[in-house]
Amino acid sequence: MTDDRLKSGFSLKAILIIAALLVLGFAAQGFFCAGGPPDVRIQPAASTIGVRTPVAVEIAEPRRGLTFVRVELIQGKKSSTVAEKSYAPSSQFAFWGSKTAKDLLNAEVGRKAMPGLTGGTAAIRITAGRAGTWLRHPSPWVEEVTLPVNLIPPSLQVTSTKTYAAQGGCEIVVYRVGGSAVRDGVRSGSLWFPGFPLPGGGKQDRFALFAVPHDMGQPDVRLVAEDAAGNAAERGFIDQFFPKSFKSDTLEIGDAFLNKVVPEILSQSPEITDRGNLLDNYLAINRELRQKNSGTIRGLAQKSKPAFLWNRPFAMMPNAKPMASFADRRTYVYQGREIDRQDHMGIDLAVTKKAPIPAANSGTVVYAGFLGIYGNTVVIDHGYGLQTIYGHLSAIAVKEGQQVAREAVIGNTGETGLAGGDHLHYCTLLQGLPVNPEEWRDSHWIQDRIAGKLGAAFQFQAR
Ligand SMILES: [Zn+2]
Repeated sequence: MTDDRLKSGFSLKAILIIAALLVLGFAAQGFFCAGGPPDVRIQPAASTIGVRTPVAVEIAEPRRGLTFVRVELIQGKKSSTVAEKSYAPSSQFAFWGSKTAKDLLNAEVGRKAMPGLTGGTAAIRITAGRAGTWLRHPSPWVEEVTLPVNLIPPSLQVTSTKTYAAQGGCEIVVYRVGGSAVRDGVRSGSLWFPGFPLPGGGKQDRFALFAVPHDMGQPDVRLVAEDAAGNAAERGFIDQFFPKSFKSDTLEIGDAFLNKVVPEILSQSPEITDRGNLLDNYLAINRELRQKNSGTIRGLAQKSKPAFLWNRPFAMMPNAKPMASFADRRTYVYQGREIDRQDHMGIDLAVTKKAPIPAANSGTVVYAGFLGIYGNTVVIDHGYGLQTIYGHLSAIAVKEGQQVAREAVIGNTGETGLAGGDHLHYCTLLQGLPVNPEEWRDSHWIQDRIAGKLGAAFQFQAR
């Protein structure tokens, strides 16, 4: 009896102590384990809020994690939410475990997000929900930065005149831009042609070579200058536009041709998977590989030097017979039925087999090797995004990085890639876009359209 009382008394005491400890533990967890103040970093891309000012928000709450983050633009009583994200924090009874919620939110604040935004100041406000416990529900954490609102775009003034642009061709524009601009150039449809400082000009004098793509029938071309807050000035500046209708051409595809070109291209183009038969492989080459090769060519524009590496008209293969012209609209026919349509982005020139190819102008070789449908290919950079491409070569005589003089031999014609017979595929490129090469061989065109507008910035020798 005595023993039993002693035993149960001890048990009761122990249970009470354990219970008290548990309550204390729970209370401590409930009290201390609520989400603490998060670490917030608000990084606007500009010192002012404009039309579209990018802002990066870095947020971390490694104790319990967050429940949500909201990014708002606030002006007076108005607010616009520009980014929002919710999270699942760790369980409210958890003492430990993975609680890190470090995140990066990218958003844009400005008049685009809040159409009624006016001058003065506005705030970028971050609200972060903190994870609660059974005991405590901390209120959301709020941090903000206030910045001046500036909705004035950079000044932009076109100083060149007589801008005559032809479909598929090039032109230049000379202009002055305000010091606040961080990006300027010509937007032509979805393409971007960057501006450059005018050699020998003042701090604000710029120029941009630009092109009208061959498939743009109505000019959608604007000169643009943008500041860091996303305020953009835009000017239309085309005085006259010459639409062009390009030739149509039908190409009969026979089995002999397929047997000649398909296996060779396939063996050197691991990016194209074997479709199991000649015709499907050919179509994959003519469509997919053609697109991939265009992407590679566009990438080469990044290697262009901001300098005029040339000063004479672009030379053409001597005694060459033109076999196809720029932007021919080709219909491909196999066994009497249409199988494909593609535009031929260059000119085809035939002389004799393995004829030496002269560089059209002085510059630097930026590509020398096999390039899918173009076979063995050389691309020469002439500066400011202007390049020339030479395709289907039987032999390449130059290396990447090599400087070449105008009319220096860079290789020999051949029939590698998608070529039925020995010829040179040639084209000029601007920022990787194939452009009509006929303009650049014409010294009058260069004088009137390009050199005349650059004045002392470019010393052109017409012959
Ligand atoms: Zn061609």
